[in-house]
Amino acid sequence: MARFVFITGGVVSSLGKGLASAALGALLQARGFSVRLRKLDPYLNVDPGTMSPFEHGEVFVTDDGAETDLDLGHYERFTGVAARKTDSVSSGRIYSNVLEKERRGDYLGKTIQVIPHVTNEIKEWISIGEDEVDFMLCEIGGTVGDIEGLPFFEAIRQFSQDKPRGQCCFMHLTLLPYLAASSELKTKPTQHSVKELRSIGLQPDILVCRSEHQIPEKERAKIALFCNVRPDAVIPAYDLKSIYEAPMAYHKVGLDQAVLDAFGISPAPRPNLDRWVDVEDRIHNAEGEVRVAIVGKYTQLEDAYKSIAEALTHGGMANRVRVKSEWIDAEIFEREDAAPLLEPYHAILVPGGFGERGTEGKIKAAEFARTHKVPYLGICLGMQMAVIEAARNLGGMTDAGSEEFDHEAGGKRFTPVVYHLKEWVQGNHKIERNVGDDKGGTMRLGAYNANLTAGTRVAEIYGNTAIDERHRHRYEVDIKYRKALEEQGLKFSGMSPDGKLPEIVEWTDHPWFIGVQFHPELKSKPFAPHPLFADFVRAAKEMSRLV
Ligand code: GLN
Repeated sequence: MARFVFITGGVVSSLGKGLASAALGALLQARGFSVRLRKLDPYLNVDPGTMSPFEHGEVFVTDDGAETDLDLGHYERFTGVAARKTDSVSSGRIYSNVLEKERRGDYLGKTIQVIPHVTNEIKEWISIGEDEVDFMLCEIGGTVGDIEGLPFFEAIRQFSQDKPRGQCCFMHLTLLPYLAASSELKTKPTQHSVKELRSIGLQPDILVCRSEHQIPEKERAKIALFCNVRPDAVIPAYDLKSIYEAPMAYHKVGLDQAVLDAFGISPAPRPNLDRWVDVEDRIHNAEGEVRVAIVGKYTQLEDAYKSIAEALTHGGMANRVRVKSEWIDAEIFEREDAAPLLEPYHAILVPGGFGERGTEGKIKAAEFARTHKVPYLGICLGMQMAVIEAARNLGGMTDAGSEEFDHEAGGKRFTPVVYHLKEWVQGNHKIERNVGDDKGGTMRLGAYNANLTAGTRVAEIYGNTAIDERHRHRYEVDIKYRKALEEQGLKFSGMSPDGKLPEIVEWTDHPWFIGVQFHPELKSKPFAPHPLFADFVRAAKEMSRLV
């Protein structure tokens, strides 16, 4: 049966709870334990699928097709454990399950209440698959004291009582603010945060204290005393240059040891940290830099393309170069010539996106990359735009476009080279969709297989002709234009197993121009960079030597 670590936060949000959880997962693995990480989010959306990337950052898609919080991306990048649908749950999902059961009559006429019905539903989620791993790490979103969070805190309190003693431990992240005027770190907010936790019945076993300054021993002792935590379970967390330093940094300050102590696991298995030593070496000892332009729409919030930024970093690590990604708002190219703005870059990436705004600019970026022979990686919408560019500028279809934009605007302006997919197969199932369906969870989502044509660039990059990658889209390049576009040199080098859906296109007479309908960034890890990103950065490195 798994041991459970519940990770909560206090004082302020954005303390890096997700990262601390992911790093702890990596450290427990390094000690030979199997882990699974889970995120419990108090917001009322059923899942983040319909939330704007401006507001909530990237939507992370799992193999089994769930649209989840971006923290699951961190979990996967640090542990390599593929997240599942059941690893992300929100209040919205919990309440909708409870209400569905109520309508079905499952509660046999009882009055439905937060305790026990909502808390029971949460406890059931937490325990899914508990027999499969040594440690289950459950992070609660938000901070202690949030109204929406209360049922989750109550549920984990009950859960720890339901389990035998020693089966659960609580780790709480807080902030030690620094007062420059008196040159002091203040512990009071941490004390209050723990007080708040204790008032709802939770006593933290481990306190992780974020601080911009070294925490003096006497402050650590004070926190331990006032918060009723053992002194060596007060773990400092300082700012890092790279998130990938987190496992080693947390190990050095004793986080994994503190967790093992909390469970009484003794003697603690010795950790094997070779993987993280190598990752740090690659980060710190990069030779040179390549500049990649990311031409997209959600450029104000870095988190909107979190996995892409990380996958590029991994690609840099594979090639021992630093990747400097710069975000360019695609709409600029609708007003200005793309060439002067894009010339300084060694590669161009057009990421996924939704809606028409900015797409003419993305088409310009694809044209620039094709005609100037600059490495180009088009992801999802970025592939669709590259195909539209080819159709318009070489295929003689000057009004080529995507049905997505016609649906949005209402009317018919384009020849739908990219069309709304209404029917497809996943495994043995047929899936059907219609325009006007609910927005949540209705895209082509999750892992799908693709077959690559032997001898193409992508087959060479993957070293394989059978792949599976994660998808998240509603629209699809229309196979009926394949012949016309291949005659121009745009090869359809990857297809769905039934041969109906184009998965990858590549320009044959170009140093590196690939469009993929899926999201390779979601599967990249620092210790296993995705082959497409590794090779894209290699091509950029080559380009950097030319200019
Ligand atoms: N908006 C496009 C579609 O739905 C692309 C989606 C994406 O880039 N993830 O097909």
